Amino acid sequence: MEILIFILGLIIGSFLNVCIYRIPKNKSIINPPSTCGSCGEKLGFLDLVPLLSYIFLKGKCRHCGERISLRYPLVEIITGLIFLYIYIINGLNLLLLKFFVQASILIVVSFIDLEYQIIPDKIVAFALITGITLNIFTKDVGAFSSLLGLAVGGGTLLIIAIISGGAMGGGDIKLMGAMGAFLGLRAAVLALLISFILGGIIGLLLIVFKIKSRKDYIPFGPFLALGTIIAMLFYDEIIIWYLL
Ligand SMILES: [Zn+2]
Repeated sequence: MEILIFILGLIIGSFLNVCIYRIPKNKSIINPPSTCGSCGEKLGFLDLVPLLSYIFLKGKCRHCGERISLRYPLVEIITGLIFLYIYIINGLNLLLLKFFVQASILIVVSFIDLEYQIIPDKIVAFALITGITLNIFTKDVGAFSSLLGLAVGGGTLLIIAIISGGAMGGGDIKLMGAMGAFLGLRAAVLALLISFILGGIIGLLLIVFKIKSRKDYIPFGPFLALGTIIAMLFYDEIIIWYLL
């Protein structure tokens, strides 16, 4: 079962790569079939096997020899590992589906934000609708908690954006609102705290090691994604650890 879940993660990861590449360009994620981003040649089945294609093609297009971005195998492995981990701690139930969907959305958002410094509204709207819908079925987050999560998640970042004069982007505010609806109030607060701590530490390290200067833009979306995934998977553990 673990192997099946990991393979499922690799396949979904391969689809997430399509989303990461096409959504910012406003292209359909279903049609047309995948082509090489460099020569435009249509990719066959053997070019599209997650992870293995990249290894056998040695990271190059079989038609034009252009290098394939390392992002492709990276997204596939990350998705595979996150899916596997969610399955191990959660088991096979309805919550698994919700966590898979939420993790997938966050992986797409993170890589798009890293590459294009945007968080597309389409993805946020999709996250909000699926989050609320899935919560109705999984029943682990009530409607009121979901609504408060949305208000507090989005509201906190909106206040920071106003106070700081725009250091927080509109995309971040909307994303955290949608994730707050997914998580419910208490986990949303935890997700925010973790995002700020991680963003603070990593932002500081990037500046100390002169990888980024103080004036550089550092996308916050990936930190929100990381904070949300950690809060989603480890809420109970973190609260118990804190109280002890
Ligand atoms: Zn090519």
